[in-house]
Amino acid sequence: MSATIIDGKAVAADLRSRLAGEVESIAGTGLTPGLAVVLVGEDAASQVYVRNKAKQTREIGMASFEHRLSADTPETDLLALVARLNADDAVDGILVQLPLPDHIDAQKVIAAIDPDKDVDGFHPVNAGRLATGLPGLVPCTPLGCVMLAKSAQADLSGMEAVVVGRSNIVGKPVAQLLLAENCTVTIAHSRSRDLPAICRRADLLVAAVGRPEMVRGDWIRPGAIVIDVGINRVPNPDAGGGKTRLVGDVAFAEARAVAGAITPVPGGVGPMTIACLLQNTLTAARQRRG
Ligand code: NDP
Repeated sequence: MSATIIDGKAVAADLRSRLAGEVESIAGTGLTPGLAVVLVGEDAASQVYVRNKAKQTREIGMASFEHRLSADTPETDLLALVARLNADDAVDGILVQLPLPDHIDAQKVIAAIDPDKDVDGFHPVNAGRLATGLPGLVPCTPLGCVMLAKSAQADLSGMEAVVVGRSNIVGKPVAQLLLAENCTVTIAHSRSRDLPAICRRADLLVAAVGRPEMVRGDWIRPGAIVIDVGINRVPNPDAGGGKTRLVGDVAFAEARAVAGAITPVPGGVGPMTIACLLQNTLTAARQRRG
């Protein structure tokens, strides 16, 4: 039996259309949620992300403010821009695209963002709110992972969840969200002993490692829900000409034969990230403006 494919594009499109409806319904009160995206430098992948974020923000009826700064922008200038955006009432959400150039301290910049406008959810105040169960802004990719898992099984309560990866932007917040969904959560990482055996315990397996196809089919419990966060570009000899293709952290063909439901790469977690960013912007607008 082959696993159900969890269609991240479709779930993200549903979410965006629901958000567009909500934005329209509050437009009558004179409120247009606004998202400011700041890009420092010319990193090609970041330029694509920022363009897509701005486009999707406008498409659902929100205001988009883009700030493109040169790669040699001093840290003090970036901090001054963040301070202006914090004070700007038309801006509900602020996102500083990472990675930043080496001469800028990303932690310092994140800490300078007003936590109530921190739509990436990376500010230590929001990490603390998540850990203590207070309302706050939750990192977008982890939020998307949980939505996809719930699209496969609405009630995750009591499930044995294993999260492979403990980064602050994916692994840890996913684990916190799954705990809040009443899963029994194990976080595995590079020092975990016998990772295949840990993964085999999982009713719900989240792979956020950054290693192409590391999680094999025989690591997966039959019928498990598998959420693959990894985005890895690998050579594609079949296509010739030095072409590449995207793969996840899970060996998809093997896993599909065992799992109950699985996200593909691309087309799984990826599309959810921007949709969740838009949701966070609407949440921030509501919380800030009552
Ligand atoms: P990080 O590199 O920050 O973290 C990777 C984690 O995986 C670390 O906790 C590390 O453990 C663990 N790890 C590394 N190697 C192994 C191993 N051999 N066995 C077990 N654990 C291991 O990555 P991110 O969390 O930022 O991203 C993870 C993946 O998700 C990447 O492929 C990234 O591209 C993708 N991603 C996708 C997004 C999307 O929108 N779909 C958004 C963000 C990320 P340790 O802590 O011990 O070093």
